[in-house]
Amino acid sequence: MIYLDNAATTRLRPEVMEAMAGAAEGNPSSIHAAGRAARKQIEDARERIAQIVSVDPKEIVFTSGATEANNLAIFGTVGRGEHVVTTAVEHPSVLEACAALEGCETTRVGVDGEGRVDPSDVERAITPRTSLISVMLGNNEVGTIQPVEAIEQIARARRIAFHVDAAQACGKVRLRRVGDLMTLSAHKMHGPKAVGALVVRRGTRLRARQFGGGQEFERRAGTENVAGIVGFAKAVELAQQGGPFERLRERLRAGLSRIPGVRFNGSVRHALPHIVNVSFRGVDGEAVVMALDAEGVCVSSGSACASQSLRPSHVLEAMGLRPEEARASVRFSLGVDSTEEEVDGALAAVARVVERLRRISPVA
Ligand code: PMP
Repeated sequence: MIYLDNAATTRLRPEVMEAMAGAAEGNPSSIHAAGRAARKQIEDARERIAQIVSVDPKEIVFTSGATEANNLAIFGTVGRGEHVVTTAVEHPSVLEACAALEGCETTRVGVDGEGRVDPSDVERAITPRTSLISVMLGNNEVGTIQPVEAIEQIARARRIAFHVDAAQACGKVRLRRVGDLMTLSAHKMHGPKAVGALVVRRGTRLRARQFGGGQEFERRAGTENVAGIVGFAKAVELAQQGGPFERLRERLRAGLSRIPGVRFNGSVRHALPHIVNVSFRGVDGEAVVMALDAEGVCVSSGSACASQSLRPSHVLEAMGLRPEEARASVRFSLGVDSTEEEVDGALAAVARVVERLRRISPVA
């Protein structure tokens, strides 16, 4: 099997699995030796991640992944009657959390044809009631990197909290803090699923969303996922070694550009190194994904979260693609263990599949 859907999730690295197998069995809140052993592993993991992100360990709140971290950032900072500025291309865990805020308004700032937001549009969207700006670091469908540093300056000047969803970018770009609240996810960087973190800058007002225990500095009640957190720290450390991303992405882009009627979606200059999103003129993206699956190649059309819905991707729509172009899109995403042979194998299969689908249902 050729797995090129690493933006959906990645394989556990053997070193991560090994670290997790050594996780302590006690409840980290217990005072006895078994509990203390688990507590020590969590605090050790927190310190190692904090050091890499260059933050204080107390600024890290472990969660069940990026969806929970995004929800905590949004519900924890925005009060009734307040206003959020976000973008049209965020992950649903941001967009739908904003929509679920009671008595609040949200402005979704648009993007250009490459999926990039203009910081001055963010600035213009701010109102006297704005209490949060939420902009992702790198897009999970097309890989476009947002100008988060410029937006951070705007937010700071206005004293508005700034949240950055770095779930897709962590492990692919240099991991350091941006914003007041930053979301991380372990399973996008060859760590375990269902563990992540919200990095909360000291002094940022954040209400808990979940009650019933004092864990995570009273910000996230519930017994910690000890093995998950241990694996997360290992994955963050290993991600510092980099991967074959840029080299393989160029190979993938070069190969895809030889297929007639291909359109590249996203930015060439401001791009995460592991994602290539294309539309094949006249063919349905889902049909390509299914035909590739039958040939042993795993890729995705749009994001995995949206793949159950028939609506074309909100990201491609915001970038101005026509519905038929958006429906024709396919996302290839590389992992640290991807190889040249896999890329070449996938390219050969894509050429065959696209040619066959076009023959079956030629466009008028
Ligand atoms: N944000 C982004 C940008 C993502 O790519 C994802 C995963 N598709 C999430 C949030 C949700 O992450 P998790 O699976 O850890 O809940």
